[in-house]
Amino acid sequence: MSTRLYEHPIFLEHVTPEGHPERPDRMRAINVALGHPNFERLDRKEAPQANEDAVLLAHPEEHLIAVMRQIPEEEGEINQLEADTYASSKSLQAVLTGVGGAMAAVDDVFTGKADNVFVAARPPGHHAEKSKAMGFCFFNNAAIAARHAQKRYGAERVAIVDWDVHHGNGTQDIFWDDPSVLFCSTHQMPLYPGSGAKDETGKHGTIVNAPLSPNVGSDHFREAFKSRVLPALNDFRPDLIIISAGFDAHHRDPLAQINLVGEDFDWATGRLLEIADKSASNRVVSLLEGGYDLEGLAESAGLHVLRLMKG
Ligand SMILES: [Zn+2]
Repeated sequence: MSTRLYEHPIFLEHVTPEGHPERPDRMRAINVALGHPNFERLDRKEAPQANEDAVLLAHPEEHLIAVMRQIPEEEGEINQLEADTYASSKSLQAVLTGVGGAMAAVDDVFTGKADNVFVAARPPGHHAEKSKAMGFCFFNNAAIAARHAQKRYGAERVAIVDWDVHHGNGTQDIFWDDPSVLFCSTHQMPLYPGSGAKDETGKHGTIVNAPLSPNVGSDHFREAFKSRVLPALNDFRPDLIIISAGFDAHHRDPLAQINLVGEDFDWATGRLLEIADKSASNRVVSLLEGGYDLEGLAESAGLHVLRLMKG
């Protein structure tokens, strides 16, 4: 497989308060992991910064304006947008570069520049609802990428698979009544943000939630993937798979109690590549979401990208 990686130094400059789990060191840990000789073949590119208008693919203008208003002007200043979400003076640039990376990744897989792409960006996006920044997220990168694929390349069926340990409430909110996007999520329940029960299926049955009880591990995760996520994907026959790749279900992660190991992310990636091979001409776009233990994050992201490269 030809695998492209989008990265950018601006992702280190979205600053959160001391002790906040979503911190620049996360990016440094991934950069070190992907600097290993195993990743020599990765096609590394700087993520382009998206225009503000790109945000409107998945969010109303009022939300864009509200976020822009809350970005502090002074370097060193930090503004709290809501309970868990903070902005520093460079946050808008970082967020728009994450959006730009996600859109460029879609361009690459539809124009044949890469089979699959990993976008190593922060902050994450899957908690951002249509009109609400929350849970460290400002704009929903996965949703914007899906809309871009539909609008620019005529994608008819886009699947978003979210294995972050937290439910992707934002993505579910945006596509609740949209039968052209399948949203599948494995996540711990109960846990933040509280949504993601099995009976939340969307207006057209295109939302598939597979909640996991606290303290379960690889077996339960793989079973949920095999019994809920993969059959839904096989039936849907997506022409693009977008992964909301959070690595906070790793056993070392401090924010949750699911006990996955790095190999589980390798396994899940492999299963999604098989489906992408069948229906999507291999097109997979993977977007970094959570993962707050630096060692667990580096190991898991490394194995995930290695699997993308091997196919
Ligand atoms: Zn998470």
